[in-house]
Amino acid sequence: MENTNCLQGLRCPRCGHADRLYITATTTFEVTDDGTGDHDDVLWDSTSPTQCSECDWFGDLGDFEFEEPCEAMQAEASWHEDDPDSPFEE
Ligand SMILES: [Zn+2]
Repeated sequence: MENTNCLQGLRCPRCGHADRLYITATTTFEVTDDGTGDHDDVLWDSTSPTQCSECDWFGDLGDFEFEEPCEAMQAEASWHEDDPDSPFEE
């Protein structure tokens, strides 16, 4: 199945799997003595370590690209947050 959102243009170069990738991304957490709290947007780029969930092939995220990079990839990286300006407010 071809991805049209966060993983658009990405698939495993070995087995072609595209449904789920493990991407080591970067974010900034609020940390107190009690542990981690809110965090900012999750960011990744073509050099982020990435693993295929199907065959465990491991490489840079750029190795998973098979067409023009998705310009929305960075913006859509915060898919888990409804409002990036006020994450996890209660
Ligand atoms: Zn694979």
